[in-house]
Amino acid sequence: MDKVRNAVHSIRKGGLTISAPKITQQKKLLYYDDAYMKEFNAEILSITKYDNRYGVVLDCTAFYPLGGGQPADKGVIKSERGEFRVVDVRIEKGAVVHLADEIGRQLAEGDHVKGIIDWVRRFALMRVHTAAHLMSEAVRKVVGSPLAIVGSGIDVDKARLDLAYDKSLGPLLSKIEEVANQVVKENRPVDIRIMPREEAESYVSRFHESLKILPPKVQKVRIVEIKEWHACACGGLHVKTTEEIGAIKVLRRMSKGKGVERIELAAKTS
Ligand SMILES: [Zn+2]
Repeated sequence: MDKVRNAVHSIRKGGLTISAPKITQQKKLLYYDDAYMKEFNAEILSITKYDNRYGVVLDCTAFYPLGGGQPADKGVIKSERGEFRVVDVRIEKGAVVHLADEIGRQLAEGDHVKGIIDWVRRFALMRVHTAAHLMSEAVRKVVGSPLAIVGSGIDVDKARLDLAYDKSLGPLLSKIEEVANQVVKENRPVDIRIMPREEAESYVSRFHESLKILPPKVQKVRIVEIKEWHACACGGLHVKTTEEIGAIKVLRRMSKGKGVERIELAAKTS
């Protein structure tokens, strides 16, 4: 172990690549086992120097990487010898890479560490992500037509939905908000299942969704369903029941032109 640590540090001083991520050894994406996991224990598999950052691969992780329409987690990874702040998390060559501006000199491959997720941020993202799914069906219900979602984005304090609609949603906003909050109060479960593509395709079509944007090679699909309200393919993290969203607030609407309406919404706790 000491030999490894010394080798790592001697290379690091030169500002060179320390090692390539050992992606085959990464075992578990803990955030898919339990989206509520705030802390976890892991081992450092590799530390790699990127341009002006360090990338750390662990044997397992609860840090969610950028993707699935959801921003990456932030947080801290520490051992008895040192710690570093995780400022971004990316998937690279199939491995989850935790990026840091600086890492403690004492940390090295083979170290046992504890990962701590910035839970306030993550839980806010989970709430607003589920809110956005819920809202897409609320808009369709109120408009009375299965409008296509042509774009979406999730942020810590808000989400946006772009819908194909050639009129203004303005006059309908308060009704849309009311319908959405009714579903929040019904406290519907949010179920996540992996389905074969064919089955998933027909399942989500009941909720006016399709799998068209998924590459053909994807044959197993992760489906997120707000019970009997809305289901679609999604790689992101969600709350377990709709009441956890808090309350859905429409922040604003705007026309994006060419028959596209944008709604921005927030998940409020008070
Ligand atoms: Zn989603």
